[in-house]
Amino acid sequence: MYNKRPVVVAGPCSAETEEQVLGIAHALKEQEVDLFRAGIWKPRTSPNSFEGVGSVGLKWLCRVKEETRLKTTTEVANKTHVEECLYHGVDTLWIGARTTVNPFSVQEIADALKGVDIPVMIKNPINPDLGLWIGAIERIYKAGITKIGAIHRGFASYGETYYRNKPMWQIPIELKRRFPDLTIICDNSHICGRRDILQDVAQKALNLNYDGIMTEVHHNPDEAWSDAKQQITPAQFKELTDALHLRGIEMNKALSKAALEDARSKIDKLDDQLLKILHERMRLVDDIGNYKKQNDLPILQPARWNEILDKSISKGTGKGLSEEFVGRLFRAVHQESINHQQKIMNGQTSHDD
Ligand code: PEP
Ligand code: MN
Repeated sequence: MYNKRPVVVAGPCSAETEEQVLGIAHALKEQEVDLFRAGIWKPRTSPNSFEGVGSVGLKWLCRVKEETRLKTTTEVANKTHVEECLYHGVDTLWIGARTTVNPFSVQEIADALKGVDIPVMIKNPINPDLGLWIGAIERIYKAGITKIGAIHRGFASYGETYYRNKPMWQIPIELKRRFPDLTIICDNSHICGRRDILQDVAQKALNLNYDGIMTEVHHNPDEAWSDAKQQITPAQFKELTDALHLRGIEMNKALSKAALEDARSKIDKLDDQLLKILHERMRLVDDIGNYKKQNDLPILQPARWNEILDKSISKGTGKGLSEEFVGRLFRAVHQESINHQQKIMNGQTSHDD
């Protein structure tokens, strides 16, 4: 979607009044904004929250287009929303996180889009399920929509957390690995749920080569009718985008292409070695598994496992690896070892050669 600078989607969480929508749009028209966002139909957790102004807001988006030339986008959750948006000339549609989880709703939207040429952005589902996200993307693609973007808005978790919705970066990274041409936008507002870390999350996304950001901007954030804590003023938004560091360009300067390729080929070799080492480790695990079977010993030896984990974490952190990473790595290795030994106990062969 872009070459040099990121795609920028900005605007209020919700369209509240005609003055509010137009006021924010006029303030943003001076900035490098590609799409003006405003929720018309709001999927709210509680029925007592503001649920959006409904169809009347589409007329306000028409005025935004006429007066500012900004393109517009809003959330659709069913066939009627799609039809009304198309009728009012909304430029891009997005499917919200609470809709992506429901294949019936996504299919209804897909059916309403057959034969229409409009870009559609699909937010990740609220739960960390890459398959569900991909399924929704496929449904829209099968309807004949070719301009598709994925919006990463984080994943819900229970209780007080640092982020409102945990980013779980590995999920969009895997999405991009499987669909390299897919445009990926970071909705830093819904990931953060607060203002002070919006910049950090937007930068993290650009460092990961995201194509753009979606940020909620409101002329009077504290008084916003929805998501007040995470919205920022147009001036604050300008500061945020001005401070963003575009890495693609810098990297070529910092590291010559040859040096980059050299480093990458070394990494490939190390990865090969890693796999060989893991293979050797599993062969030893199999030997021990056979011994445990012959001597009727249980697979899990908690004292030994604790010792391995403690030792690895202390050695790993000493080498600058995070405790979380070393823990996760060794838990995965341990689980694979248990799987191997379970097979042996069940009489299945575990040697792969
Ligand atoms: C929104 O963008 O205002 C919104 C409701 O987002 P999400 O679907 O990510 O919760
Ligand atoms: Mn919102």
